[in-house]
Amino acid sequence: MLELKSVFAADGLLSRHIPGYRARDQQLEMAQAIADTIERNGLLVAEAGTGTGKTFAYLAPALLAGGKVIISTGTKTLQDQLFNRDIPSVRNALNVPVTVALLKGRVNYICHYHLEKSLQDNHMHFVNREEIKYLQLIERYALRSKDGDKSGLSTVPENAAIWHHVTSTRENCLGSECPSYKKCFLMEARKNALASDVVVVNHHLFFADVMLRDEGLTELLPACNTVIFDEAHQLPQTASLFFGESVSTGQLLDLTQDSQVEALNSARDCVALTDAIASLEKATKDLRLTVDDENVRYALPVIEKNKAFRPALNQLVEKLSELESILETQAERSEGLENCWRRANSHLLLIKRWCLTDQESENIDYVRWVEVYSRVLQLNATPLSIAEIFSRQLDASPRAWIFTSATLSVKQNFDHYLHEMGLGAAQSLCWDSPFNYSEQALLYVPAGLPEPHHRDYIEQVVKAALPVLKASRGRAFFLCTSLRAMQQVHDQLTAAFVAENITFPVLLQGEGSRSHMLKRFRELENAILIGSHSFWEGIDVRGEALSLVIIDKLPFAPPDDPVLSARIEKINREGGNAFMEYQLPHAVISLKQGAGRLIRDENDRGVLMICDPRLTTKSYGRKIWQSLPPMKRTQQLADVEAFFLRKIG
Ligand code: SF4
Repeated sequence: MLELKSVFAADGLLSRHIPGYRARDQQLEMAQAIADTIERNGLLVAEAGTGTGKTFAYLAPALLAGGKVIISTGTKTLQDQLFNRDIPSVRNALNVPVTVALLKGRVNYICHYHLEKSLQDNHMHFVNREEIKYLQLIERYALRSKDGDKSGLSTVPENAAIWHHVTSTRENCLGSECPSYKKCFLMEARKNALASDVVVVNHHLFFADVMLRDEGLTELLPACNTVIFDEAHQLPQTASLFFGESVSTGQLLDLTQDSQVEALNSARDCVALTDAIASLEKATKDLRLTVDDENVRYALPVIEKNKAFRPALNQLVEKLSELESILETQAERSEGLENCWRRANSHLLLIKRWCLTDQESENIDYVRWVEVYSRVLQLNATPLSIAEIFSRQLDASPRAWIFTSATLSVKQNFDHYLHEMGLGAAQSLCWDSPFNYSEQALLYVPAGLPEPHHRDYIEQVVKAALPVLKASRGRAFFLCTSLRAMQQVHDQLTAAFVAENITFPVLLQGEGSRSHMLKRFRELENAILIGSHSFWEGIDVRGEALSLVIIDKLPFAPPDDPVLSARIEKINREGGNAFMEYQLPHAVISLKQGAGRLIRDENDRGVLMICDPRLTTKSYGRKIWQSLPPMKRTQQLADVEAFFLRKIG
């Protein structure tokens, strides 16, 4: 096998084949650790600071080792970048004949069966002209496309409602019973993934389909020698989502709609079926209407205080039971009716399980809670700990597992991550960024701000940020920990700009897609982008356009979140210290992500302003700033102004 040194050296294979490649000691060391982990089927948790080049550090040893590799990324954008750019570059440089497949979740592939159903549906639920035009575009695209990936059809917006009608869900897919099975795009993509050496997936797909074994992918994980998770800091949250259970009023309304179509096609004579569908539809809508608010989460004891909730839920269970019984009697008449019956049955079991009291339930390690969106209410049961469930998957058969990210540790300590993921036996290693942070960056924590719960906090933050924004001449991200704070910052900042006749363009998250806003931000060259969670991660703006990152306060998750508060209670009940063991590490990792937007290469320079006095006044504050890259620190505005003068001058 090729020596890794000859791959990563200044005059090595990567350097000769990849324009702009720079050799870095950290990258070679990381690649050697990964090669060693693959060879011994080990477990490695590896933090690599920005600029280490972690992607090449795992790709080269993984491609050289041979065997089947699954690489899972945090987002579809990163997935595309790996598949279209990074893997072909490394494969070409190493000259290794590996086959590579890109596999996305089923909602990304056009479903022939549901497309045909929609085309035949005379009672279309999508009656506006635009959607009919989109449907025709999709029909033509499905005929000429090789892979049926909806991202290949840019003339239909990604969020158009029509996609819902022409893609499948796990529930409404007919699998091998489907009349379009032989030409199915999704099945083809899965076949391709099973046959390829390297498969690029994302975390959602990994947990939903690979680990939890959707019927089409049962052989993918067992055949795999190495699993690599990039952006592995996101895994605890994704795993919680998929190891839990949920059912939404949206799924129940989908069931009523599909049952209606199937009833019209195959069971017109069954009047009871039509009545039962209508009753369930009403009960489902009534349940959503029991809550006036939207975008809120309630723990079970809190939602129970709503007197209308439990009767509406009981009514829904009754109507769903009735529909399920009638569908059972009609299931033989078509595959579609049989599928609806199975779905009704599985929703019913899940809701009944959700309704059990703690005494009746075997799942006492799950927290039950409700999430309400504008049109949908969702019942959730989330495990209090994912460690045991995840580590069971790791033990299933010998293979190498690699978890990497720029943000996994707290002051180079991985205990929290290892504990949360159940990775007790893992080796953990850390490589610092090769950037010269003490020269390139300044951490500014303004003196004199009140505590974040103070009612004038945001006003004071904006006041403190104003001179810094003038010194940086805009060119800033203003990252907020909540949407509410984001809006307040926007309103107060734009008012201050008007009052002082300042003309920096201000962009607010939500004014366009993330990629469109980033493009505008880069083009404007002196803009201020105010954002919340969407802009904390996975954003790469290099050079002068981004010279200042302001963070409104330390990103502690809201303690009234039902899952978080149940986890805090469990840790404290078991004698632990939930703040130090859970809340603080999560906040540190999140802060490191936000702060990581600032310095993206060795020529970047900039200021990180964290407007939270707790960083200097609380004992845990030291632990937080010591977890950040080693920047110079100040509480003086004059130092910030001098930094920008040097930078600009
Ligand atoms: S097998 Fe499933 S995804 Fe494929 S065409 Fe049929 S219903 Fe659609």
